[in-house]
Amino acid sequence: MSAYHPLNETEAIEIARKLEGVFAPDAQLACREIGDGNLNLVFHITDSASGRSIIMKQALPYAKVVGESWPLTLDRARIESEALLLEGELAPGLVPVVYLYDQELALTIMEDLSDHVIMRQGLMNGTRYPLFAGHISTFLARTLFFTSDLGRNQQEKKLLARSFTNPELCKITEDLIFDDPYRDADTNSFEETIRDEAQALWNDGELHLEVALLREKFLTRAQSLLHGDLHTGSIFITPESTKVIDPEFAYFGPMGFDIGAVLANLLLNFAGREGWDKTDAGRESYRAYLLDTVKDIWSQFEEKFLALWNEHGVDRLANTAPGYRENYMERLLQDTIGFAGCKMVRRVVGLAHVADIDKLEDASARERAQRLALRIGKSLIKLNRRAVSIDQLIDAVNSAS
Ligand code: ADP
Ligand code: MG
Ligand code: MG
Ligand code: MG
Repeated sequence: MSAYHPLNETEAIEIARKLEGVFAPDAQLACREIGDGNLNLVFHITDSASGRSIIMKQALPYAKVVGESWPLTLDRARIESEALLLEGELAPGLVPVVYLYDQELALTIMEDLSDHVIMRQGLMNGTRYPLFAGHISTFLARTLFFTSDLGRNQQEKKLLARSFTNPELCKITEDLIFDDPYRDADTNSFEETIRDEAQALWNDGELHLEVALLREKFLTRAQSLLHGDLHTGSIFITPESTKVIDPEFAYFGPMGFDIGAVLANLLLNFAGREGWDKTDAGRESYRAYLLDTVKDIWSQFEEKFLALWNEHGVDRLANTAPGYRENYMERLLQDTIGFAGCKMVRRVVGLAHVADIDKLEDASARERAQRLALRIGKSLIKLNRRAVSIDQLIDAVNSAS
């Protein structure tokens, strides 16, 4: 193709036209840029005559946040396309098909999933997804197990980890999730009405110890290839289908970070329910559905992960040492709970928030949701190292509510 520059819609169409076997040479292609433009461009290219369409995602060489902009490696486009390919092998049908990656342009051409909705929006609308727990637990169990030392030859794993070295995107997580919310940082963003909550976070030594321990795991524990940004805005969904997108933060890190991200985002929606359900009964019922889903995801994950371990475990001592499996799964649950808590806290006081809460129009409802999300988040962080059962997470949510 050509030297790197951000594409315009006409150029995107020209590239699409040259793809083999997708569009007819004389097709009338239409193109619209549909990304939010902070880090990446996303072009949706359609041919109304044939009904065919594709998505082209191009990385921008900078991140643009609240008027400021800082340089950001284009290598994340490679990481994203390679992660999608590997996840597609390990968890077939649960990620978009990648048609082409162009290194020069930092461009990934992939399956158009416009017949799905972004899960965050689906949850805000109050839609239920009865197959989601099954799908996401399969995605998590298979991608995490087969890239860990339990499921992959250990030399191979280390070689694979090389191509997923992602320092610049990890740094964003290290700062925005594991540091800034716990000090009076310029990047923080919260409403004045909850300044007391923010200040409480800055002065809570017990919380700081737990966050420092979780941060250390994020920095040092190359346990598995993570998606790295697995919130409900990175999941396309319908009642029948689940597709995980946007793994540009992929790197080898602690498994619980991905599982915790999913659970945290369900719980952020839980906290925002007051604005999304018309009646008290509707809210209670949807909240119960969310908590059932949280529990179901962990239970199915655990069952599937252990089944993979039984069938495909490659590490002799890990396979045979009495009590090792139980210990491993207990630590994984603890990490999951701790990381879920960190993910919740940052979405209320840190740089990027979630629509589940921020879009609540009534200011007092929004404030209650923010305080609830923080109560849940903090109690999960404080629970993490003591947890032995997923029921303790559910109890912590119920006591905070
Ligand atoms: P970013 O990394 O900039 O967040 P995403 O990969 O999350 O980019 O994509 C941003 C938006 O572009 C998504 O929320 C979705 O609306 C749209 N999009 C991304 N990938 C696809 C796809 N494969 N099919 C349809 N729409 C997509
Ligand atoms: Mg975005
Ligand atoms: Mg995204
Ligand atoms: Mg992204």
